[in-house]
Amino acid sequence: MGKLDGRVVLVTGAARGQGEQEARLFAEEGARVVVADVLDEQGEALAKEIGALYVRLDVGCEDDWEAAVAAVRETHGHIDGLVNNAGILRFHSLLDTPLDEFMEVVRVNQVGCFLGIRTVGRAMADGGTIVNTASCTGLTGMAAVGAYSASKHAIVGLTRVAALELAGRGIRVNAVCPGAVDTPMSNPVPAGGEGGEETARAVERLYRRLVPLGRMGTAQEVARLALFLSCEDSSYVTGQPFVIDGGWLAGLNVV
Ligand code: NAD
Repeated sequence: MGKLDGRVVLVTGAARGQGEQEARLFAEEGARVVVADVLDEQGEALAKEIGALYVRLDVGCEDDWEAAVAAVRETHGHIDGLVNNAGILRFHSLLDTPLDEFMEVVRVNQVGCFLGIRTVGRAMADGGTIVNTASCTGLTGMAAVGAYSASKHAIVGLTRVAALELAGRGIRVNAVCPGAVDTPMSNPVPAGGEGGEETARAVERLYRRLVPLGRMGTAQEVARLALFLSCEDSSYVTGQPFVIDGGWLAGLNVV
């Protein structure tokens, strides 16, 4: 018996990184997964490998959401789960952030999450689950990522409100708040790329110093938390942000 047998779950930003691992784990646990992304080649290849449906879905686009949900209904007849995982990160101090960049981050991270909750929430079977991907920076500040942090705080707010509004239908809504996780977002030099090894070593040194558990998290570890929040194991859990950060937010360490 898989933990998601019979359930249809759409994962956004599933072509790589955390979304990819969520799609893989959910398929292993019996879900019929819908891989959604704007990276068509990678998304289609993954979907083929794990027996999923691929849909091109720019999460900031209302029409894309309507088309994606229609495609899921046509293929599977129902939808039971959503993981709002797609996101982008941009680095600038607030005083140097161009408005276009701020709006781009809000469009993907915050509006994308809102449209996902709204479109899938309307179509979803009672008893469904929604997992939103916030961040540690949705609960605390971090210099140089102001637009990102603001959008992730907004996702925590959306999570709480959606949990209140959808509880009557037995739909549970929670958020994952990862710290530093080893994906292309946090380590953008591709493996084997120029300077890649050096960057990877510098990143490793940094997180050994910053994170109490002494390392970055893996996408698989985040996927296991998303699975917990998407299955019956968390049947009495809704409206909460769940930090997964190796102890980073636990407090200051002065010794
Ligand atoms: P990633 O860059 O590897 O993956 C992000 C995925 O989202 C990509 O496949 C990308 O194509 C997709 N995407 C981007 N814009 C999109 C759009 N408009 N529509 C649809 N898909 C889009 O990054 P990741 O680390 O796997 O990030 C996954 C989520 O986790 C993001 O929301 C990110 O903010 C969050 N997060 C990551 C970390 C980390 O350290 N990696 C920490 C905290 C939170």
